Amino acid sequence: MKYILALDQGTTSSRAILFDAAGTPVQSAQQEFKQSFPQPGWVEHDALEIWAGQLSVVKKLMTPQDGSQPVAIENISAIAITNQRETTVLWDRATGQPLAPAIVWQDRRTAEYCDALRQEGRQAMIQTKTGLILDAYFSATKLQWLLDNVPDARERAEKGELAFGTIDSWLVWNLTAGRVHVTDPSNASRTMLFNLHSLDWDEELLSLFKIPRALMPRIVPTSGVLGETDPALFGRAIPIAAIVGDQQGATFGQGCLEPGMAKNTYGTGCFMLMNTGHAPVPSMNRLLTTIGWQLPDHTTPVAASATDQSCCSATGGCGPEGCGAGGCGAGCGSSPRTDTTYCLEASVFMGGATIQWLRDGLGIIDSAAEVEALAASVPDVGDTYIVPAFTGLGAPIWDGHARGTIIGITRGTTKAHIGRAALEAIALQVAGVLSAMEKDSGIKLTELRVDGGASQNNLLMQMQADFLGIPVVRPKVTETTALGAAYLAGLAVGFWSDTDQITSQWAVERRFEPQMSQADRIAKLARWKQAVDRARGWSEDVIQN
Ligand code: ADP
Repeated sequence: MKYILALDQGTTSSRAILFDAAGTPVQSAQQEFKQSFPQPGWVEHDALEIWAGQLSVVKKLMTPQDGSQPVAIENISAIAITNQRETTVLWDRATGQPLAPAIVWQDRRTAEYCDALRQEGRQAMIQTKTGLILDAYFSATKLQWLLDNVPDARERAEKGELAFGTIDSWLVWNLTAGRVHVTDPSNASRTMLFNLHSLDWDEELLSLFKIPRALMPRIVPTSGVLGETDPALFGRAIPIAAIVGDQQGATFGQGCLEPGMAKNTYGTGCFMLMNTGHAPVPSMNRLLTTIGWQLPDHTTPVAASATDQSCCSATGGCGPEGCGAGGCGAGCGSSPRTDTTYCLEASVFMGGATIQWLRDGLGIIDSAAEVEALAASVPDVGDTYIVPAFTGLGAPIWDGHARGTIIGITRGTTKAHIGRAALEAIALQVAGVLSAMEKDSGIKLTELRVDGGASQNNLLMQMQADFLGIPVVRPKVTETTALGAAYLAGLAVGFWSDTDQITSQWAVERRFEPQMSQADRIAKLARWKQAVDRARGWSEDVIQN
């Protein structure tokens, strides 16, 4: 038996999972690592600890403790890497030592700087080029902060002595003993330094953020052999055949390979991505436009050269038909790159975390899973709504001053109504995001594929189908992030021959059909909007005496 080894380097833990040719996870190992919060709003990781942890889970997998037969190294056809995105590492090329702790995607230390850039009017240019909203979330300002604050960093960076990378680049560098310094478009598109149209680092952005180009990794396709592991690590060199950001990996692992297919992950927050095809779709609703993945040529039709589309940048890029009729109309005559898939992305801050709050904040349940029985003990919410704007509201509303509300409570309201309203709040927020995506893409979704911890809640999934008016589908394999990365690596080394084979492996565990009438759905969404309006602006509405 041959396997693909997926390394899933998340925000809180490192995992290693072996997949067989049927796409079934056969063995896995996991290890958590330390989260540091040195100042309010700061979040850091120790990049060396991440590397050591990742290595250790692979070694654990190679020496199972349960007495089962270990998989021989020669039976691992390739390694795939999927990772927490945007987190920024700066290291010394000669010694491989990081110059400072990694700045994690959640870190807000550059938020004020981003506000200043917004006031300078930089938002439109950045959004057109990168598809992102100007924000501290992305790598650019984190890297700039490191260069400005680590002694001698900028000078050494200019001399070519240092390397920048997101976690994928950092892992590849270490796996190859410093021989390979690369990233892929799915990760690069989260740095705010990558041009979605030319598919390369953007000179204007590098200069705006004062980033020397010598720091930047080479961009390689998401799926493709980019190097081999140092033989000293596992006793034999193994090809590294894919790197992909975690959410894009999950989208691929969910088999969302055609335009208009979408997945939603119900974790702490919810992450929704929709495949929009081979051209970037600019968002009018403040969603993010991002690269999904770039496949090797043999799995997709012929690709045009990356620079062919550069004339379309000014207009936000070509349409799916390429330039000219139906495209950007700028007249460059280019065809779109058919090896590159773009997505629209949006997140809901409080997804499963709303249920954590019922458990830890209110104490009305002992475990997250209990909310299902509690909520099912009443037939409806009794016109009670929870708007979980604990930290403001994200896409598509974007109100940082909104705060959580519970509205509509009466003497008849019980904790069961609250539990049910919390579940509804997750599904209603996701419905809002999806509706914005449909508006931006002009595509009407026909089903939503789901994964993540809270997707195990059947009542929540039924509510989701009802509020969307389309089926919600939960797959058999819910390890979609690692599976997607494994598929991308397997395609590159011929473990799987083409994307059709992958599509055919995706299997449904359960399908939730909408049962609500259209009139009820419209009324429900309208009532939710009223509840959201009541939560908006709360923190800036303080009455001064
Ligand atoms: P993450 O990867 O963000 O840590 P997970 O995918 O592990 O998240 O999902 C955990 C989240 O899902 C938690 O916020 C938890 O409250 C929620 N959750 C887990 N099980 C259920 C359930 N049965 N019903 C509702 N929410 C759940």
